[in-house]
Amino acid sequence: MLVDTHCHLHFDAFDPDREAVIQRALDFGVKSLVNVGTDPKTNRQALELSRTYPFMAATAGLHPHHAHEISEEGFKDFETFVTQNPPVAIGEIGLDYVKSQSPPETQKTTFARMLDLAARRNLPVIVHSREAFEDTLAILRSEARGKLRGVMHCFSYDRDALKKVLDLGFLVSFTCNVTFKNASALLEVARTAPLDRIMLETDSPYLAPQIYRGKRNEPCCLTHLADFLSEERGIERTVLEETTTRTAAEFFGLSLPS
Ligand SMILES: [Zn+2]
Ligand SMILES: [Zn+2]
Repeated sequence: MLVDTHCHLHFDAFDPDREAVIQRALDFGVKSLVNVGTDPKTNRQALELSRTYPFMAATAGLHPHHAHEISEEGFKDFETFVTQNPPVAIGEIGLDYVKSQSPPETQKTTFARMLDLAARRNLPVIVHSREAFEDTLAILRSEARGKLRGVMHCFSYDRDALKKVLDLGFLVSFTCNVTFKNASALLEVARTAPLDRIMLETDSPYLAPQIYRGKRNEPCCLTHLADFLSEERGIERTVLEETTTRTAAEFFGLSLPS
């Protein structure tokens, strides 16, 4: 049994055939899914999916690309939403310096506020960080150290960065981008990261594996990532599966189907 620890099945990309996508995930052994919110609208959509499908969980977050869209009132509404509908994590939140409409200073302020909220509500965090490692680390060190459990999702930095993230007590999750042809450095990180500190995700609809590159990704492709990584690491697929599934269940507090 696999858990897709980060996907966006509530996104419009799945409107035409969501039922079929969900059925394929189940058929391929992906028995639990975490739908990750990125702004007030998608937070609500993720919550609604988790109400319809008991094997799905929802998070509530504010993606760095949306950091500049939220007003003071919006922060209050966010906290009210989280209080009334407790998510399994706060996220995705973080910093993304690749072609973002949100200025870095705005992203940093929003990120810090979200970490503070997660700490007060005793919720783990899902951190998104792209080409912003030093700033992400600095904020996590001052705002999260010792106070928060977290995962840096779609981990795409080097081995030195991995060590710094693990030293914070955080987990990392790997996406199908480790299967890309040009990802040898990242693959080396994914191959050597401690097995009990990693989780698997698809980030669907993004980042389809190499064999489907450029197409829409979907949770059933997690099985491809699990096959690929267990082979690369030279371990039994069942060992990878059981370990990462246990980690995910503990991290998000999921009750998994037996
Ligand atoms: Zn992300
Ligand atoms: Zn995502």
